Amino acid sequence: MSLIVQKYGGTSVGDAERIKHVAARIIARIEAGDQLLVVVSAMGDTTDELIALARQMTPEPEARELDLLLSTGEIVSSTLLSMALKHAGHPAVALSGAQAGIGTDRRYGRARILSVDPRRVHRELDAGRVVIVAGFQGITEEEDITTLGRGGSDTTAVALAAGLKAERAEIYTDVEGIFTADPRIVPEARKWPEISYEEMLELASYGATVMHPRAVELGAVHRVPIYVASSFTSAPGTLIHGGPFMEQHNKVLGIAQDTDVARITIRGVPDRPGIAATLFEPLGEGGISVDTIVQNASVERLTDLTFTVSRSDLSRALEIVRPVALEIEAPDVLADTHLAKVSIVGAGMTSAAGYAGRMFRTLFEAGINIELITTSEIRITCLIDEKQVNEAVRALHKAFALEER
Ligand code: ADP
Ligand code: ASP
Ligand code: MG
Repeated sequence: MSLIVQKYGGTSVGDAERIKHVAARIIARIEAGDQLLVVVSAMGDTTDELIALARQMTPEPEARELDLLLSTGEIVSSTLLSMALKHAGHPAVALSGAQAGIGTDRRYGRARILSVDPRRVHRELDAGRVVIVAGFQGITEEEDITTLGRGGSDTTAVALAAGLKAERAEIYTDVEGIFTADPRIVPEARKWPEISYEEMLELASYGATVMHPRAVELGAVHRVPIYVASSFTSAPGTLIHGGPFMEQHNKVLGIAQDTDVARITIRGVPDRPGIAATLFEPLGEGGISVDTIVQNASVERLTDLTFTVSRSDLSRALEIVRPVALEIEAPDVLADTHLAKVSIVGAGMTSAAGYAGRMFRTLFEAGINIELITTSEIRITCLIDEKQVNEAVRALHKAFALEER
């Protein structure tokens, strides 16, 4: 008997009927001989609704209370699923993240899992119950409830799979696997049978919401294979793993887009040693992750510094940057929230030239201006106008012949 961790996303548990459907899938799997630990997301748009409710109380809800509130979304779906299983005659138990032993740091709204204490889950499994865990949450040493960031139930699933040494994590969602681009934007997008952790991490970090980036990272570190498939059909999905691979992808494998980006430009920064540290250290201490950083060549010992953060971090980032800019006598701090990132990803790009040129020409021919460019070994990202991002994804999908096998 192998232990499998399954995770069902928000759409898959969106209403009572869908929860019963998930229960039926779980039962079929148990009857086939597997032991299951199941992680669930909140039903449908519950998390968004809870955030909206909180904002009706106060424009800036306190982080601790907000996390405790948001954690209830997953409590609802996990308890309902457990009830459905028991009604169908299968012993089950619902656990909150804290009860399932998920320990996190204190960063509300973006907590990182520090430890998984598997004892309670093992006890329940040993007693023959299907364990249903509320995703997206954990508990700090001080016993406060935290959440892991939007889409974080994937991370709960992979962390539990690692902590319990499960055979693999299975992520069930509303698409049939990992595609060459978001199939909602590119209907011709193709599904990959398998993909490496590294490529999936780049895609997820640059906007492919189908997997939470931290989940992929944890999978890579603990060598947990992650299978992504549909909760509605039985079509074969995509296996994210560490190799070896049947088919070597030797070119661009996917396009990702991300509109959760804000650009901050600090004008007239004095060009002397230590200034970048003065600016970026407080951002790091404030828990704000800075993505792209560009410093222009200096003119008369003054330079411009540009960087990007996620939109939800913009106001906090400005609060930190403005006083520092004042201190170093930089006259202007500008913010821009009308941009988006479009990225091409593929391990094969490391060993071959010409990808950047083809990407830039494709965007140019589509009439899209590039504001900033960043790269990793297996990714090229362009910052462009948000309004043109879907068009950019479609043009690049075509230019790199991703609809063809
Ligand atoms: P869940 O609620 O199950 O966690 P998400 O909405 O978080 O589901 O993720 C699934 C969605 O990810 C899909 O509906 C699809 O629109 C989007 N997506 C973005 N990029 C990709 C991609 N490359 N392959 C598949 N789906 C993608
Ligand atoms: N319910 C949370 C969200 O909507 C977590 C998740 O679905 O994974 O972001
Ligand atoms: Mg998700």
